Amino acid sequence: MRSSPLKRDSPPDQTDEIGFDPDEWTGIRETGQRILDDMFDYLATVGERPVWRRLPEATRSFLKEPGLAEHGQALEEVYDEVVEHVLPYPSGNIHPRFWSWVGGTGSAQGMLADLIAAAMNNCVLGFDEAAPSHVELQLIEWLKTLFGFPAESSGLCVSGGSMANLVGLTVARNACAGFDVRKDGVAAGPPLRVYASTETHSSVQKAVELLGLGREAMVHVPVDSDFRIDLDALARRMEADVARGMRPFCVVANAGTVNTGAVDPLEDLAELTRKHGLWLHVDGAFGALAWISPRGRERVRGLNRADSLAFDLHKWMYQQYDVGCVLVRDEAAHRNAFELTPAYLNRLTDGLATGPTDFSAFGVQLSRGFRAFRAWFTLKTEGAGKFRRLVDQNIAQAEYLTELVESEPRLQLLAPTSLNIVNFRYRDPRLDEDALNALNTGILQQLHVRGIAAPSSTRINGAFSIRAAVVNHRSRRADFRALKDAVLELGRELTSQGASD
Ligand SMILES: *Cc1c(COP(=O)(O)O)cnc(C)c1O
Repeated sequence: MRSSPLKRDSPPDQTDEIGFDPDEWTGIRETGQRILDDMFDYLATVGERPVWRRLPEATRSFLKEPGLAEHGQALEEVYDEVVEHVLPYPSGNIHPRFWSWVGGTGSAQGMLADLIAAAMNNCVLGFDEAAPSHVELQLIEWLKTLFGFPAESSGLCVSGGSMANLVGLTVARNACAGFDVRKDGVAAGPPLRVYASTETHSSVQKAVELLGLGREAMVHVPVDSDFRIDLDALARRMEADVARGMRPFCVVANAGTVNTGAVDPLEDLAELTRKHGLWLHVDGAFGALAWISPRGRERVRGLNRADSLAFDLHKWMYQQYDVGCVLVRDEAAHRNAFELTPAYLNRLTDGLATGPTDFSAFGVQLSRGFRAFRAWFTLKTEGAGKFRRLVDQNIAQAEYLTELVESEPRLQLLAPTSLNIVNFRYRDPRLDEDALNALNTGILQQLHVRGIAAPSSTRINGAFSIRAAVVNHRSRRADFRALKDAVLELGRELTSQGASD
């Protein structure tokens, strides 16, 4: 019998050629199994550690050591250094009392998925006929269904909301400019204008600038007392701009603003953009996920009418960093904005280069990681129902924290809780606004320094706000009571210190 041509059955020639694979795998396998065990422990005990702690001097200097060694260290030795200097000092976002920015948690299941994806290390091009191309396409199909997008729409997994906004706005610009931007550039027609509320995330502004439209092209429309875009002001600004010879091409609607979780009136904006032939892009970085939950669906009504929708999977979909997604209703418009096929990327009729799509025709990246896999894997292991319940639970927890705040005379709610973000502060009738801002800054910093909890901060109508964004599957109601108690205690402690100064 002839030996298989696929198998290296004789030892490779004795040469001085090298690679990373060990000659025998026992050592790396043992260390690897120890690491895997440690990582399960790390996750299982996360709530017993402080949510945040300062990096000690020893770690700071370890991480500043210049001069990369020519010869490597033993794997176990490097791992020991990781155990000492890296693992104990995370941002804290996997902790049950982390509610900063919109920090995602990830999961143990996702960690396993990442291990598998890392082993395959597939560059998910789409035109490679390989399972990962089909996995990502299947994930996109599931996401389209979850968010009520039509079957003929297109989508792409990207690094996150910022990239999803950039992709969505690129399609919007090219589809609605009224001239050939790809060929002639943005200066070939009237000045383009995109409209969004003053509460809109900075990544939208960044996208507008990257698209060469200039900062002025982004028109910030005022909001009402619930931090939703003012529709009358929007209509007036658009009319005035048209009268001045400018060309509105897009409205960016927020499904969940980063400050307060406010949702713009999506149905009204869908009507308005349709009437004027404009593109409706929805930034639903986290808020889009409300759509899948019973409590949230009604609050983001109209979401599925967007021409493009940007959302993160690493925020309210509990995935490991990083993964986001953009869905585009008109696949041809999506493709027209990005497609370019040089000869070296041509598809063939048989073999490897016969994959189902070309992901680079839908976005910026060519080489892409298999980030779709962790979402695909956890959706399969947990089922859509688990995600619905968790998003619902987070909304209920934000409502619970809101009630805790409202039932304490020493606490003040600073913005309506429209989704999953709670803004509040400690109050003391003896203090003026400046003193309250300083006091609440102190309270927040002490929450972090003492490792108790990690909300973040923002300004609400000028007032320093302690801001808790709840996208955490590890939080329980007791964690929110702990936050409330700690804020009250710190408020008393810091004001009595101030009084005795
Ligand atoms: C987080 C966020 C973004 C940016 O998303 P990244 O994943 O951080 O790139 C955009 N918009 C909103 C509302 C966000 O919360």
